[in-house]
Amino acid sequence: MKDLINRLIEKEELSLQEWEKLIETDFPLEDLFLKANRVREKIYGKDVYIRGLIEISSYCKNDCYYCGIRCGNKKAQRYRLTKEQILECCEIGNQLGFRTFVLQGGEDPFFTKERVTDIIVEIKNRYPENALTLSLGEHDYETYGEWFDAGADRYLLRHETADRNHYESLHPSQMSFENRIQCLRNLKEIGYQVGCGFMVESPGQTSETLAEDMQLITKLKPEMVGIGPFIPHQDTPLRMEKAGSLEKTLKMLALIRLAHPHVLLPATTALGTIHPQGRELGLKAGANVVMPNLSPKDVRKKYSLYDNKICTGEEAAECIRCLKLRVENAGYKIVEDRGDYKQ
Ligand code: SAH
Repeated sequence: MKDLINRLIEKEELSLQEWEKLIETDFPLEDLFLKANRVREKIYGKDVYIRGLIEISSYCKNDCYYCGIRCGNKKAQRYRLTKEQILECCEIGNQLGFRTFVLQGGEDPFFTKERVTDIIVEIKNRYPENALTLSLGEHDYETYGEWFDAGADRYLLRHETADRNHYESLHPSQMSFENRIQCLRNLKEIGYQVGCGFMVESPGQTSETLAEDMQLITKLKPEMVGIGPFIPHQDTPLRMEKAGSLEKTLKMLALIRLAHPHVLLPATTALGTIHPQGRELGLKAGANVVMPNLSPKDVRKKYSLYDNKICTGEEAAECIRCLKLRVENAGYKIVEDRGDYKQ
C-alpha cells in the first residue's frame, strides 16, 4: 500500500483497480492520516473554515430511499423558513463570525427560481463580504445560472455514488444518475465553486463503486467534497441497514485529501453523529471545514435526514462555542474567513 500512497502524493493518477485495492485492503491507518494531515497543513495550515448551515425546508418532492425527509415518509415533520427567518439566521451567523452561509433543503417546489433569487439578492446585499453556498438539489441550467448571477458563489450537490447501478438502487426510477452528473457539470460551467460527494458505506456500496467515486472526483475537479457515513433513518426503506463506520469514513477522507490536496473537505455532522470525537478525528485525517447549524432551534429536529443527528438541541451560539473548543483541542483553529478554495 505504501507504494500506492506514495504515488498519490506524487500526484499520479491511479487506475480503477489500484483505487479498489487501496480502498479494500486493511492496513494500519495512522500513517495515512499523518500524511493527509501534512498535505492539508501545507496548504491550509491549522485553519478550519466554518460554514453556517441554514436548513430552509424539510419538504421534498424526491423519494431517495436513504433520506428521512423523502416525500414518502408520512411521519416526517415538514417546515419551511420564511425569507425573514432565513435573514435572521444570517444575521445571527454573521455576528458569530460566519463568513459563509449555506442554504440547504429538500427539493421544495415552493422555493422557485424567483423566490430563491430574491433571497440570494437580499443576503448578498446585506453581507457583500460573505460567501453564499446553495445546496438545493437538481435544477435546470437556467435556474442555476440565474442564482449564480444573483450572487451565489458555491453549490453543493453530492453525486451520492458514481456507479449507475448503485445509484439506481438508492433512488426511485424518477431520479436519474445522468441528470445528477449533468447538474454537476452545468454548475462547474456556470462558474460556481462546486462540491460533490457521497455517503460512506451506503447500502450496496463496494470497493469498486468507491473507486469509481474517486475517479469521478479526479475527472470533475470539484472545489469541495462532502462525505459522511450513511446512517439509517427509522422511517425509510433502508431502516434495517448498518451505519457506515468511523474507520472507513476517515480512510476515505484521508485518501481524498492526498489525491486532491487543495480540496475543501468538511468533517461532517454525520461523522460527529456516529462517534463522539468523529469530527475531531476527521480534521486529523485531512478535513479542514466544519458546518455548524444556524437553523432556528425549533425546526432543527424536523430536518431529520438520519437518526440521532447531533446539535439539534442547542442555539447557534452554543454550537459554535462547543465546536471552537473541540477544534482547538484537536490542535486546529477556527478562522473568521470566507474560506475560499486555494489554487
Ligand atoms: N436536497 C439536497 C440536499 C440533500 S441533504 C440535494 O439533493 O443535494 C444533503 C446530503 O445528506 C445528501 O446529499 C446525502 O448525501 C446526505 N444524507 C441523506 N440521507 C442520509 C442518511 N440517511 N445518512 C447519511 N447521509 C444522508
